Amino acid sequence: MSSRQLSKRPRSSVQSTPRRLNRPRSTPSRFSLVCERPCRASESFKNIITLLLRVGITEKQSSDEIPPLLFFPVLAKDEEITREMLLSGAETSDCFLQDGILLEAITLSPETTADITAMLVYSRAVASRPAQISSSKRINKKVELFLSQKISRECSSALFRCAKGGHLAQCVSLILSGSDINEEFAGNTVLGVAILNGHFELVAELIRLGANCSSAQSSGGNPVGLVLHPATDHLFTITQKIELVNLLVDSGAKIYSKCKLRQKSTSLINTVDFIDKAFHPKYGKPPLRGGFFSELSQDEKRNYLARGEFQSYLLSILKEQLTELAHAKDPKALSACFECGTANKKLVPDSHFKVIAFCGSKCRKLFWRSNPSRTKIISRKRRVFNFEPFFLQSNLIDNYSYN
Ligand SMILES: [Zn+2]
Repeated sequence: MSSRQLSKRPRSSVQSTPRRLNRPRSTPSRFSLVCERPCRASESFKNIITLLLRVGITEKQSSDEIPPLLFFPVLAKDEEITREMLLSGAETSDCFLQDGILLEAITLSPETTADITAMLVYSRAVASRPAQISSSKRINKKVELFLSQKISRECSSALFRCAKGGHLAQCVSLILSGSDINEEFAGNTVLGVAILNGHFELVAELIRLGANCSSAQSSGGNPVGLVLHPATDHLFTITQKIELVNLLVDSGAKIYSKCKLRQKSTSLINTVDFIDKAFHPKYGKPPLRGGFFSELSQDEKRNYLARGEFQSYLLSILKEQLTELAHAKDPKALSACFECGTANKKLVPDSHFKVIAFCGSKCRKLFWRSNPSRTKIISRKRRVFNFEPFFLQSNLIDNYSYN
């Protein structure tokens, strides 16, 4: 048999077999290996680790340079192994050094599942405590790869990280496991962090779970103020903003409750003042005369009108709340001007109805014009908000608000 015949034989046998899938030579089975290997490996590792734990080998941390063994099933979202390790005595307080702070397994809540988070809390992990500081500043890039956000000490608590990243299931799990929903981290409340990062569903869930709807943040603002603040314009549509305001108000948000404008402010203002200041440019109010409105672009006009609608809607809620307080003879009715809603000016109680106050004669006259009765304060109801839904533009040159 010649060499030519030999080389021909295998080729003919290949051709006689059934037709194979026509795929490029460079990628034949790589993809299937990637898919199959981890499954097989994870099954066998599972069995080995389960066996080791059952025969009594407990997890011990040897060095802060190697993540504690508990980190691996937590990051791998493996509930079964995490449970086994916790039941076998794995310490939830074991730390791993990362960029000067000591991370615990609970810090990794946004990177794992809600059930694992709950397991860790039930195993005595403290969810709302920020990570401890270490003198060493070493950065471990390998662990950084697993993290969904960069961790600094101030924002290292599990609840803060989950609220910032919008991890709804983990937040619910942490709160139901006993974390304080009203705790403040790095100057922000949990609700404030969720609002400032635009997590609509999470904000609604936190309100339903009982977050304080009026609580002021030490970094400035309160929930209603932050929802309407221009900083959240690109995160919520107008419809979503109003939905959240309504939900907050129906869940107990008081528009007359006081907050700071920003962290370093010394004076306290109410939500109407907060929005008034947030909507106006630093260099003063826009000129109303001289063709100001007609010179604005289409987007600027729409922003201008929408902001005006926000302000008058918010004022109508405050008026409703102040009237209810006045009817109940609650001294809190004196905390804001009964007509324009400001708490940022000197208020003078009305000489006739002693339970209400005004910032000046202009507001007093306006009130008496709409309330001619000297025997009672007429009830005032919240107006209907009716504006087309769209995203507010936050990058305009003339980003004026309503006056
Ligand atoms: Zn006034």
